[in-house]
Amino acid sequence: MDNPLILNAEGVNKSFAGFKAITDLNFYLTEGELRTVIGPNGAGKTTFLDLITGRTKPDTGTITFGALTELVPLSEHEIVRLGVGRKFQTPTVYTEHTVFENLLLSLEGVRGVWKTLFSKTTSTDVDRIDEILKTINLGSRRTDLAGSLSHGQKQWLEIGMLLAQNSKLLLIDEPAAGMSDDETALTGELLLKLAGKHSIIVIEHDMVFVKQIATGRKVTVLHQGSVLCEGSVDAVQNDPRVIEVYLGR
Ligand code: ADP
Repeated sequence: MDNPLILNAEGVNKSFAGFKAITDLNFYLTEGELRTVIGPNGAGKTTFLDLITGRTKPDTGTITFGALTELVPLSEHEIVRLGVGRKFQTPTVYTEHTVFENLLLSLEGVRGVWKTLFSKTTSTDVDRIDEILKTINLGSRRTDLAGSLSHGQKQWLEIGMLLAQNSKLLLIDEPAAGMSDDETALTGELLLKLAGKHSIIVIEHDMVFVKQIATGRKVTVLHQGSVLCEGSVDAVQNDPRVIEVYLGR
């Protein structure tokens, strides 16, 4: 039997000044699933993530998180607190703080200002951060300034910050952009390691990377704000509708 749903978007529409960016979008994700979303520029991928995180509100439709929580009425902050974490394409780490401190700040962030002011870092926090450092392969960079990390390492740190925030659903926008081949492969390994424990939506263009993370999983193709098709990497790559969308008539 399939795992329960972590995300269910039904009949979602969003227009900007009369332009339909998202049209009757239906999309669901099961707990622990790693889903790659592809689609040409302007397909609505970023807008879709904006709608999940509350950055943009739909004109119509519902977006349910877990069994019952309707996300549309909630603020961006409330959605983060529920466990929805987003990583944008450009890494935004605190360059003047150490790798450890960046993770600690994310851990503190979810506790709220009052608790942060009156609480001290406990050994449980340190253990948790060390565990995350191991997961993101940055254990050896623990006390280095985040600003000294490579582009790829900053991306992994940012994924670690989402883990420190207790994100159950990770929304990751083009994680391999600007990375070397080695870093790209390691990023793929990291995402595969996180799948299962976390539910993940990855937006990606690089088809070599898509093959690495999506083989044996479902890929979604967005086009003109709707799901054009879903299926295995090979099935969507060979789908005449997808070929037409990418290559034009
Ligand atoms: P993708 O991420 O797949 O490239 P986007 O979600 O960024 O696509 O954009 C989908 C469409 O919606 C594009 O045509 C874009 O120009 C339009 N769009 C997105 N955001 C806005 C906005 N704030 N105002 C006007 N048009 C927008």
